Amino acid sequence: MENLNKTVTGGQFLISESNAADIFIPEEYNEEQKLIADSCNDFVRREIIPILDRIDNQEEGLMVSLLDKAAELGFFGIPVAAEYGGFDMNYITSLLATEYIGASHSFAVAFAANTGIGMTPIMYYGNDEQKKKYLPKLVSGEWKACYCLTEPGSGSDANSGRTKAVLSDDGKYYVLKGQKMWITNGGFADVMIVFAKIDDDATLSAFIIEKSFGGVQLMPEEHKMGIKGSSTVQIFFNDCKVPVENLLSERQQGFKIALNILNLGRVKLAAATIGAGKATISNSVKYANERHQFGKSISQFGAIKYKLAEQAIRVFAGESALYRTANYIEQALGLHIKSGKAKSEAILKAFEQFAPEASILKVYSSEALNYVADEGVQIYGGMGYSAEAPMDRTYRDSRINRIFEGTNEINRMVIVDMILKRAMKGELNLMGPALKIQSELMSVPAMDSSDDSLFAQERKYIANFKKSVLMIAGTAAQRLMNKLADEQEILMNIADMIIDVFVSESVLLRLEKLVSLNGENGNSERTAMMRVFVNDAADRINKNGKEAINAFAGGDEQKMLLLGLKRFTKTEPFNAKEARRHIADKLIEKNVYCF
Ligand SMILES: Cc1cc2nc3c(=O)[nH]c(=O)nc-3n(C[C@H](O)[C@H](O)[C@H](O)COP(=O)(O)OP(=O)(O)OC[C@H]3O[C@@H](n4cnc5c(N)ncnc54)[C@H](O)[C@@H]3O)c2cc1C
Repeated sequence: MENLNKTVTGGQFLISESNAADIFIPEEYNEEQKLIADSCNDFVRREIIPILDRIDNQEEGLMVSLLDKAAELGFFGIPVAAEYGGFDMNYITSLLATEYIGASHSFAVAFAANTGIGMTPIMYYGNDEQKKKYLPKLVSGEWKACYCLTEPGSGSDANSGRTKAVLSDDGKYYVLKGQKMWITNGGFADVMIVFAKIDDDATLSAFIIEKSFGGVQLMPEEHKMGIKGSSTVQIFFNDCKVPVENLLSERQQGFKIALNILNLGRVKLAAATIGAGKATISNSVKYANERHQFGKSISQFGAIKYKLAEQAIRVFAGESALYRTANYIEQALGLHIKSGKAKSEAILKAFEQFAPEASILKVYSSEALNYVADEGVQIYGGMGYSAEAPMDRTYRDSRINRIFEGTNEINRMVIVDMILKRAMKGELNLMGPALKIQSELMSVPAMDSSDDSLFAQERKYIANFKKSVLMIAGTAAQRLMNKLADEQEILMNIADMIIDVFVSESVLLRLEKLVSLNGENGNSERTAMMRVFVNDAADRINKNGKEAINAFAGGDEQKMLLLGLKRFTKTEPFNAKEARRHIADKLIEKNVYCF
């Protein structure tokens, strides 16, 4: 961890130049982190991949026994404090483990629901008694956890749930009644984090419920498109008696807990999808090398090289953004602890701070994995469609990531909403830079600066991307005011522009740091990945920007904004074909994802 004294904050990347020294790059893992990654990777290769069919058939007791094995290896306790049986490792290490487990299909989902949304509410919101009672058993695997927020009538609108809790006459317990839906691990979980409204409260409260309390009725397993091995059930709470001491945090704090836990979950989901993406690329390149048509390996065809390279670029970019954010969170956590906050409070504050980035990571990486899986099927041709090859499962399993932990539409709205709200509260100075851009637009474009350093051009592009976003988001907010929330198409455009800014800057910073650590040698493929990503981002930002401007502006203002956008997304000619070939050739030579 570096630069503890710096105060990078969520959304700030839009208004200031970020510093490569502030980010963590995967090339910096220490020996301990590499050992943990190897041990997770080994577990997935030996224990999970050979029996994926049995897992997907939901063989009785199999998933639970695999979770038990993972617990025995210590995987459940990686981020948990030593006093509760854990290893108290840092956040990046815990994400790294999630990344490697991410390649294990349904097991990854069971693992994430247990250690993420299942355990973390107790870790971060539990009082001492609750932590002492539940965490050691959850770390050892004796108990498994699930998270019950969604209901048949309440999905994206999570606070509209109808599950109700009423205090008993003797004041000793709440009586819970209601129905939860789509509950991962619900079929076997011993401990459930359940959200319900007490009496006629407007906002949810959260409870820790043990299955053994009674009044918990499990419905049959759902039949799903993918992640078939992951348990997903509806749960009825029929007058379930919950001791008052099992209220988590305070009354009506449940919605806040749900949102904060989702912030954590979104970053974890990004880590898991990066792991799944790398494994899918490795399968794709191996198959492409082995499969011969027209007298040569299909990996020799330019059309296939394009796909392999593009798969790698998207995963590499997502990974860069993931660990950049992880380090920001780690830095913020350190600062909050230094300022006297308890660790759990500090963690929650740090996550709240980087909530826009958490949503960016969730949307970007789930869509990157969908692309990787889709092209994986294509590279396998007919075998991509066969249940005997790995791609059909990969394709089906990858799709859920755009739906849970907040759909990608909801997350896109969250990105823009949070950034604009912070600007309105004065926490993020968007207006100052936005006004500067307006005066820049009125003036003659400045001559190119004399910066001739290695990545000067890309640095300039990204500074301009930021101007595009500030110009368009700032003007849209001024013109539409409160109506902007109803113009979701424009919000989606702006969200996609912000995602492109954050991810392209993350890849650039990774390259800058890499070169500063190791020099230019050996980084030519990574440099090519960064350049393809940044050049493509310019075109995407241009398209999204144009759509947004044409939707809300008119007359001279429209003309000026379109001209500004053209100026800010202008790039010099770049041979993306050669760059992609260079990347693909490395993958083909190594026969595995190697970046
Ligand atoms: C396999 C699986 C596992 C799951 N695991 C869990 C779990 O462990 N615990 C849990 O609590 N939940 C879980 N969920 C539930 C999941 O989080 C929800 O499905 C998700 O939040 C979406 O809610 P919904 O299905 O009701 O869709 P809806 O909210 O009905 O959304 C339908 C569509 O409308 C869009 N939409 C909704 N509102 C808006 C809006 N305001 N503006 C624009 N578009 C909108 C959505 O983006 C989506 O495209 C799981 C779901 C699945 C499928």
